[in-house]
Amino acid sequence: MPFTKNIIVTGSSGQIGQAFVRHLSQSNEGYYIYALDKNKFKNNKKNIQNIEIDITKEDEVLDFFSDINELYGLVNNAGIGVFTPFLSRTLEEFKNVLDVNLVGTFLMTRESIKIMIKKGHGKIINIGSIYGINSSDFRIYGESGRNNSEVYSISKSGVIMFSKYLAAHYACKNIQINTISPGGIKKNQANEFIKKYNSKNPTGRMAVTRDLLPALDFLLDKKNEYINGENIVIDGGFTKW
Ligand code: NAD
Repeated sequence: MPFTKNIIVTGSSGQIGQAFVRHLSQSNEGYYIYALDKNKFKNNKKNIQNIEIDITKEDEVLDFFSDINELYGLVNNAGIGVFTPFLSRTLEEFKNVLDVNLVGTFLMTRESIKIMIKKGHGKIINIGSIYGINSSDFRIYGESGRNNSEVYSISKSGVIMFSKYLAAHYACKNIQINTISPGGIKKNQANEFIKKYNSKNPTGRMAVTRDLLPALDFLLDKKNEYINGENIVIDGGFTKW
């Protein structure tokens, strides 16, 4: 099958990004994936191009886009958090989180939409978080060192609103822009933390990356020309009570 639909995935070397890139590269939709990350991760498939880039640097982003003429989709997945308590937050930490989660997303999106307008279609998926709609519950995180920060929450609210704003402004150009907001993904968190998190989750477990894939497929589907500006929360019901 020819690879005719170019999709950019940022943060492609991370836990979720790797799962997205692997999944899209195996799809029958003819996707060609630009896997963007500031850290190298080698994908050896003919429909994946690995690109080392810092998405917060405008010159690097413009340089990357100078070679892109066709674009079907953009998945703004790169994101960082900070886990120290608010009262010890440094200005640098605060700015770094906003820089990657919002500035990087802004630069990638602006350049992508320019191409999508010319092509008459486009799908953008921004990765938010449940902590962009709710505060983290400190009773779960305790002393685990995994309690995400106020600035992470602000940045992810910003991502959700960014999607809505742009969805309203570019629907007329046949560009659909939605957010996927995952709950906590299982990695190698402490058992005590996992136990508490699971006990609050109606589904009784943390997410795994494959839980996000149906929504990714659904939002990228060419038949979707009407779901726009939504925030799909994938958390097993964690935020529902
Ligand atoms: P991760 O840390 O495993 O991966 C993030 C990737 O982004 C890394 O490979 C990193 O190198 C890359 N990155 C960071 N700054 C960058 C920059 N300036 N330029 C280019 N690449 C950069 O994180 P993850 O868990 O895979 O998270 C992916 C996304 O999902 C993030 O936006 C995160 O906020 C969101 N999210 C994660 C969870 C979770 O529990 N893991 C839950 C909700 C939302």
